[in-house]
Amino acid sequence: MLKIYNTLTRQEEEFHPLTPGKVTMYVCGPTVYNYIHIGNARSAIAFDTVRRYLEYLGYDVRYVSNFTDVDDKMIREAHEEGTTVPALADKYIKAFMEDTKALNIEPATMHPRATQNIPQIIEFVQTLISKGYAYVVDGDVYYRARKFQHYGQLSGQSLDDLETGASEHVSADEVQKKADPLDFALWKAAKPGEISWDSPWGKGRPGWHIECSVMSTRYLGKTIDIHGGGQDLEFPHHENEIAQSEAATGQKFVRYWMHNGFVTVGKDNEKMSKSLHNFITVHEIIQHVDPQVLRFCMSTTQYRRPIQYSDETLADATNNLRHIKTALQNLAYRQSDAVEGTNDEVAAKVKDFDQQFREAMDDDFNVQNGIAVVYELVKYANVYAQGKTVARGSLSALSKQIRQLMSIFGVDLTENAATPIDDERIKKMIDERNQARAARNFKRSDEIRDELKKQGIILEDTPQGTRYRKA
Ligand SMILES: [Zn+2]
Repeated sequence: MLKIYNTLTRQEEEFHPLTPGKVTMYVCGPTVYNYIHIGNARSAIAFDTVRRYLEYLGYDVRYVSNFTDVDDKMIREAHEEGTTVPALADKYIKAFMEDTKALNIEPATMHPRATQNIPQIIEFVQTLISKGYAYVVDGDVYYRARKFQHYGQLSGQSLDDLETGASEHVSADEVQKKADPLDFALWKAAKPGEISWDSPWGKGRPGWHIECSVMSTRYLGKTIDIHGGGQDLEFPHHENEIAQSEAATGQKFVRYWMHNGFVTVGKDNEKMSKSLHNFITVHEIIQHVDPQVLRFCMSTTQYRRPIQYSDETLADATNNLRHIKTALQNLAYRQSDAVEGTNDEVAAKVKDFDQQFREAMDDDFNVQNGIAVVYELVKYANVYAQGKTVARGSLSALSKQIRQLMSIFGVDLTENAATPIDDERIKKMIDERNQARAARNFKRSDEIRDELKKQGIILEDTPQGTRYRKA
């Protein structure tokens, strides 16, 4: 039985979705004013891995992740780049899709944008005003935080502590307008020249928090199963989402709140920030780091734990990934002299590893224990592949199981240009082909030739033997 640590209740709870067999999941996406940094990537990878495991368990997952495509940062950056807010959004949404694709992050079921939901946002804000939870000041609309009974429950802080925290997130101009420092903006009046939409309160644009309440409700329903995001979003963002949604609908907003840990940079575990000049974008990293290594490194750290991003961490991930790929090569290599059929003991072992893997992952997506099971499976596969007699079906079953479990971590195991085939392996394959030819097994000898061709290795049969060259 899957258990999830729920930030709201601060304990692991058995996971029972609202509708059996189906999961609704909302994950806060990035503000699209820059390339995504490794903190954004960590969050996207963590929840992509959660989604993949839920799907592995047989759930039909509906996954929504938004793009914040209008806010102060967007307006400032568009001005600096000499472009418009929509053009800036288009540019970085395209980059987001490219970077996440490189990291094997499945596109969400939907990626709605804030600016595509303006009429729904206005309607939602009007509901909050009519219920007495919001008030209008000079074209701005604010939420009356203290009126919401459970305000502060998610972040587990007193209202006084929250008041101090809240003041860090708002401009001096907003502070003057608000009836209480804890109140937050639902709608902001436009300054001259700023992008804006017509509303009952004049020209303006939505505040940040309201978009997630609106899109989550609109695309997934009033109550959703899982809401995810980085730990830094617990307050004020998620606290405010709960206040808005539950006040408007009168129903529970989220059943399981999940928050992923931070990424620290370098050996000294510095927090990533622009001022420390260690703000790393995925766009830069994948110029020199294999994206599969980055994916592997991030998806094999449990989502709530911090990740230390350093050369050492990447080197470890590279080695571990190579170890798994080598096992797959060993299994493939023995196909040529394998006997037909399957081995019952191997079949039972594969089932057993799958069970162990599920037990590990059912404990709040404990991927560290999950990957440990994969390493045991790999060890077993290597021993089996060295055996005197091996069964073709069992080689395939082991290979299939390794690939299936690794697909939950979202790692693409196909060989790529970054890991070129070495001479030793080519020679081994040529030997194998010669044996196949001597045994008049031309199907297998052709297969080997084609496999090498795919890797850019061309074979030439001469009276002196087989030579090869790189295409
Ligand atoms: Zn959000």
